Amino acid sequence: MSTIAFIGLGNMGSPMAENLLAAGFSVQVFDLNESAAKKLEPLGAIVSASLEDVVKGASTVITMLPAGSHVRAVYLGDHHGGIGLLNLVCRNTFLIDSSTIDPDSARLVANEAANKGLQFVDAPVSGGVAGAKAASLTFIVGGTEAAFGKAHAILQHVGKNIFHAGHAGDGQMAKICNNLMLGILMSGTCEALNLGIDNGLDPKVLSNIMLQSSGRNWALELYNPCPGVMENAPASNNYQPGFMSKLMLKDLGLGMDAAIQSQSSIPMGTLARNLYAFHNANGNEELDFSSLFKFYQRQS
Ligand code: NAD
Repeated sequence: MSTIAFIGLGNMGSPMAENLLAAGFSVQVFDLNESAAKKLEPLGAIVSASLEDVVKGASTVITMLPAGSHVRAVYLGDHHGGIGLLNLVCRNTFLIDSSTIDPDSARLVANEAANKGLQFVDAPVSGGVAGAKAASLTFIVGGTEAAFGKAHAILQHVGKNIFHAGHAGDGQMAKICNNLMLGILMSGTCEALNLGIDNGLDPKVLSNIMLQSSGRNWALELYNPCPGVMENAPASNNYQPGFMSKLMLKDLGLGMDAAIQSQSSIPMGTLARNLYAFHNANGNEELDFSSLFKFYQRQS
């Protein structure tokens, strides 16, 4: 099996790298947070101390970073003299970015890579930490047909549904639409559950009713935001992430940026973004995004 360099071993990257190891790839890992990388050593990962080291001998690079600024810095270099991946990798190295970022940054990196004769795809994911652990993620790929085929051969070891959204950056655009919907659904789910509780309903009973009714949705079904309703959901584990509120705020902001560019109307997404901005400003940004439920709860 070929060698993969994996960069960014947070809530998502770490279980994805684990699954690549389990599939038999040789995996070299790097994270600015050294302890995140070290956790994968007992599973067979080779821990690297720098970007330069992690790409040595790798035929594929996968990045799983927080936002566009991190992706641009890692691929293109930064203002502090850091050399970008595009100047460090060997000629035929295949590049996959699975972070959720703005489509313009994805297109910029894809163009710069093409100028150096390198293939790059944007391949953001959906499915959360549970999907990453179970290797059942949905990948949404932007890039050429040939690059999609190459990406598919690798991503099938960490995901179940792998879509070709279109050209470079289109994977990000589709993912942004999905998360706009998710932010709205999570806000609505919190709101409906809290209304029921305030009016004397048991949240487990209400959740079961809505799951068999027209209010059914992903947040309610797999990620119930009310503590105690779903044993394995972040809500039942003090809202430990999971998917941090600050990342949801970033994604809803990406939706707003896209809407401004296309002059689209997104009143629901805008409201959801403002709810998350308010919630995060109250000290919740590192909690799971389902913690928005706390915003609705009575404090007394
Ligand atoms: P995270 O913050 O847990 O992990 C990001 C990791 O990147 C951290 O360990 C950080 O130290 C590392 N990092 C940052 N800059 C770096 C650099 N220059 N070099 C090396 N490492 C660097 O975030 P996450 O939850 O794993 O999310 C990663 C991406 O996936 C985000 O874009 C997020 O929006 C997206 N996403 C997350 C989820 C989820 O449920 N958590 C689901 C779908 C998509």
